[in-house]
Amino acid sequence: MLKKSTSISIHPRTVSLLPCIMIFWFCSFHSASVDPERMFGVVVVGVGRAGSVRIRDLQSPQLPPSPLKLIGFVSRRELGNINEVKQISLQDALSSTEVDVAYICSENVSHEEYVRQFLSAGKHVLVEYPMTLSLASAQELWKMAEEKGKILHEEHIELLTEEFAFLKNEVAGKKLLKGTLHFTGGPLEKERFGFLAFSSIARLSWLVSLFGELAVISATMEEQEENKYLKMTVNLETVNKRPLTWIEERGPGLKRERHINFLFESGLLESIPPPTQGNKNIFLKDQDIFVKKLLGQMSTEDLAKEKKHILHCVRIADEIQKYCQHSKKDGPLGGTEGTV
Ligand code: NAD
Repeated sequence: MLKKSTSISIHPRTVSLLPCIMIFWFCSFHSASVDPERMFGVVVVGVGRAGSVRIRDLQSPQLPPSPLKLIGFVSRRELGNINEVKQISLQDALSSTEVDVAYICSENVSHEEYVRQFLSAGKHVLVEYPMTLSLASAQELWKMAEEKGKILHEEHIELLTEEFAFLKNEVAGKKLLKGTLHFTGGPLEKERFGFLAFSSIARLSWLVSLFGELAVISATMEEQEENKYLKMTVNLETVNKRPLTWIEERGPGLKRERHINFLFESGLLESIPPPTQGNKNIFLKDQDIFVKKLLGQMSTEDLAKEKKHILHCVRIADEIQKYCQHSKKDGPLGGTEGTV
């Protein structure tokens, strides 16, 4: 019996196109769950400095074109329209099917409630740091986002600055012996921005990104309410038991400056050169990271790493607050500092 032979003939032109066909197939397979035409309607909540930059960035044309479309903004004030963007009520923002994403750019004390409301309404959330003002609520919100299958993104522009890129490069491969990061700046109202370790979490984020996970050894707060002056001193320790001190000093007339003193086995690092480009577009770079997450283009490992970093910083801030409250209650001679 003769076997019927089957043969597949491929046209020579198809052969020459094979690499292109494979690339096309690869790309369409890997973005199968993402509709390239998909647009995400965005509402910006809180129109201060951060909110205004977000609105500007959402309105400026991007290359490649952004999948984000600004629908409106929410404010406590009656602002009408800003650059043809309409003000909408919180209720409309929460219930509108046009809104897929909320940017929370209000004062820190209102972040937690807004994040909860928008996640509950099934929206993705981008929140300016700090996400919340306690570890318990940050953990709860992450859990909520995961259960809802929504992206919860905390902005961390401090990691996108030229200064940080410089430090990351300098620190790479060096063994730290001890270090100090001293930040000075204008007053920050606790009533609007929360406890200092949370409102200044960008400094913690730097230290953790540079030196790995940290333990809190002790923390104290010096406060002169009448002068709007605050000085927080935190003693931290690296995994290798190297001491790191973080000082955050806030008061009228204090210039926004970072002073570093990192002693490595190989030498001392005492200054950070000023940014040559002026740290332009760092909010836009943060938005690009958020878009990657929305489009499913960030790996599970990177997402998990980022979540771990954020929650670790929040955990440290939470501990610092407890140390400071504890030492305040007992007074400077209480003798309990560092024993929480
Ligand atoms: P800001 O004081 O300029 O703006 C806060 C705005 O939020 C104000 O317009 C205020 O009216 C509005 N607001 C306050 N409570 C509100 C509420 N309940 N509902 C709606 N709007 C409300 O402060 P900012 O510098 O824009 O900071 C906003 C957030 O961005 C903060 O969480 C801050 O930590 C974060 N952030 C700011 C910067 C920056 O460079 N400005 C950098 C990183 C993070």
